[in-house]
Amino acid sequence: MLDIKNVHAYYGNIEALHGVDLSVGSKEIVAIVGSNGAGKTTLLRSISGLITKTGAISYNGEAIDKRSPRHIAKAGLIHVPEGRHVFPGLTVEENLAVGSVSWRGIGKANLGDDLEKVFYLFARLKERRKQYAWSLSGGEQQMLAIGRAIMGRPKLLMLDEPSMGLAPIVIDELFVKIVEINSMGVPILLVEQNALLAMSISQRAYILEGGKVVLEGNSKDLLNDVRVREAYLGKLKDSA
Ligand code: ATP
Repeated sequence: MLDIKNVHAYYGNIEALHGVDLSVGSKEIVAIVGSNGAGKTTLLRSISGLITKTGAISYNGEAIDKRSPRHIAKAGLIHVPEGRHVFPGLTVEENLAVGSVSWRGIGKANLGDDLEKVFYLFARLKERRKQYAWSLSGGEQQMLAIGRAIMGRPKLLMLDEPSMGLAPIVIDELFVKIVEINSMGVPILLVEQNALLAMSISQRAYILEGGKVVLEGNSKDLLNDVRVREAYLGKLKDSA
């Protein structure tokens, strides 16, 4: 459903992606893995229309590479940026309302089913619905950022480093929810530095280095690939 061909992306005169090809199928979780500065965030920004780029990006056959970020989000490609970016001075419920209002143009009075869906997924958000976002823990803020995206009824959810800065137990809880969202019919493009985690929940993965895809394939096969184990799964190798 999402098809990316030969994408080059630029920050001013600096080329940050050098001809990336990637696809995401309608039921998949696809991981993008790579070290700092590999270009993972830049790739998500390219899909969302937030950066200057060349190449072809289509979604369900429609070219979106010349479309505005607003059009792309309204078409259902919803991006949860690195660092969460919840609105600290709004309550949990108000942050969720922003997801509907901004992405789907739905008034606050008509949030019903979507709100219930988010609260079903993240019971903790329901308990804290009247609490200001600034007062939430890091894990709860990440849940809120994903919940806000769910309010936009995503047809493709793009998650940038959802595990960043969270304790292992919170990460495990969050990743169970990511799999659950996917099983509800939402394909997911997941950017992660934590390669083991990303590959353990995805069907396929792309490894990005220096703005290029250097390896791609079935996640299970990549987990067993000696190059991947040496470069990205050092801890796993040591403990094996
Ligand atoms: P990280 O996990 O550290 O965020 P990443 O894989 O997401 O890494 P990007 O943030 O996409 O990497 O960065 C890719 C390249 O683009 C890097 O060389 C980075 O320095 C450069 N870059 C990123 N943002 C900007 C910017 N605003 N201006 C100039 N160069 C940038």
